[in-house]
Amino acid sequence: FPNWYSPETGIYSSKHSSIPLPTDPFLDVVSFLFTHQHDGVTALIDPSSGFSLPYSKLLPLVQSMASGLRHLGVSQGDVVLLLLPNSVHFPIIFLSVLYLGAVVSTMNPLSSMFEIKKQISHCGVRFAFTSLDKSEQLQNLGVHAIGVPENIDLGSENIGFSPFHKLIRGRFSEAPRPVIRQQDTAAIMYSSGTTGASKGVVLTHGNLIAMVELFVKFDASQYKYPSSKNVYLAVVPMFHIYGLSLFVVGLLSLGTTIVIMRRFDAGEAEKLIDNYGVTHFPVVPPMLATLIMRAKGACGNSFKSLKQISCGAAPVSRKVIDDFLQVLPHVDFIQGYGMTETTAVGTRGYNTQEFHKYSSIGLLAPNMQAKVVDWNSGSSLPPGYCGELWLRGPAIMQRYLNNVEATKMTIDKDGWLRTGDIVCFDKDGYLYLSERLKEIIKYNGYQIAPADLEAILISHPEILDAAVTAESDEAFGEIPVAFVVRRHGSRLTEEAVKDFVAKQVAPYKKIRKVVFTSSIPKSAAGKILRRELRKLLNCRL
Ligand code: ATP
Ligand code: MG
Repeated sequence: FPNWYSPETGIYSSKHSSIPLPTDPFLDVVSFLFTHQHDGVTALIDPSSGFSLPYSKLLPLVQSMASGLRHLGVSQGDVVLLLLPNSVHFPIIFLSVLYLGAVVSTMNPLSSMFEIKKQISHCGVRFAFTSLDKSEQLQNLGVHAIGVPENIDLGSENIGFSPFHKLIRGRFSEAPRPVIRQQDTAAIMYSSGTTGASKGVVLTHGNLIAMVELFVKFDASQYKYPSSKNVYLAVVPMFHIYGLSLFVVGLLSLGTTIVIMRRFDAGEAEKLIDNYGVTHFPVVPPMLATLIMRAKGACGNSFKSLKQISCGAAPVSRKVIDDFLQVLPHVDFIQGYGMTETTAVGTRGYNTQEFHKYSSIGLLAPNMQAKVVDWNSGSSLPPGYCGELWLRGPAIMQRYLNNVEATKMTIDKDGWLRTGDIVCFDKDGYLYLSERLKEIIKYNGYQIAPADLEAILISHPEILDAAVTAESDEAFGEIPVAFVVRRHGSRLTEEAVKDFVAKQVAPYKKIRKVVFTSSIPKSAAGKILRRELRKLLNCRL
């Protein structure tokens, strides 16, 4: 066995050397972030207004904002909701709340009032940053919507920072900061709700510090180019742990420039990449497919500055990867894996002379340990075998908020987090994710991974997108049903789709039913919403 796997304990350690984490118990993530000066470097750019913020102004702005918030009554332990799209303000607001020892909870600004109400009462929100049109409703729920008297619409585009100054001008005061410990709660982030109701994940300052060290800083240290010359395009949502870990926290410790985009559009992304010399672009799978189409039609000078595209949050098919490598051969492609519960830390791809395993989710992050557990027998499995991934390490959440039962089922007494994802390590320590445990279709006692069938469907030239889900069946328990988006003008039939898959899989894996649809429902983080598909199925019956 390799030295990173112990057959006695069944524990995998990271292949990377471990990284010393700050041991001072009285350390907050804001102080931790701003230990380095990055003079003369631009931190955040809002291309729609042309507004940009240099690193030298970042901490003073966070401090002014914090003192403004203190005057409004925000104090240690208060929960502040950020119901905002990506903007230059987002990181400033987030960090100023944490600076006061208060707690941030984030949420998709497109959420319904029903969802907003639920989260507000679940985590006890007292203050909120949101657009003016939502402010009144929030006030009616007893939440103090910030910026209302000043008429600041944080939901609108192009607002720059001048109206924002109304909030903080003249209010700066050097009041002593509260004592903040690494173990104090910094954020309550909600998981995506892909497998059921989304859960409130309690993350501490220590979790965020570990994330910066083990994910963002470590990743940057792997490459020869200096991170203060990197320019990131930030379109992955900041309200989700993926965007938050990079654009709101981690990259600010490196002196990286962040170009902010509110919603994804491949043409707009191309323009921004070229105008700002973007070097790094983190994406989710649905963005990758449209970006490839765009790059196919682009002139020779586009996408020149790009060095790396990293993809995460959901599986990406081999076909899409191959297309990508063909269309943008000069760009490094890697996948990364993480969860809200692991503060986005998990695994990350790293291409070397020896290895470029594009389909892999990469190597285990430093300081993290893993087990691969057979979900039937509970035994730990060696490299080459698939089982549920368990993770342990300093980036793992404390608990689910107000949910002792779910916490107990997810983290065991030794600190192992059950990820619910089925993975296997190869002989070189690279991980492959095959499916979520909960998505496995049980057909007549056999197990089918929807992702395998989806990859085959997408490889059909007339299929633009596809998703597979289970439908209950009296005779077989569950049967796999395919939802298929046909290319414009295609006359592909149900039988043709079934035959195409049947030729490539074992008989029990055949698609039993096909539903043609105009699009596959996906979350803001690019995940297929299979429960929406199941709803669609029920409607049709
Ligand atoms: P919920 O837990 O509320 O049902 P969720 O698991 O989708 O929703 P997140 O924390 O946003 O909520 O996402 C983590 C999950 O995303 C992982 O458990 C994994 O299933 C999936 N994931 C993350 N990265 C990748 C990746 N690179 N490839 C495939 N799946 C990924
Ligand atoms: Mg999950």
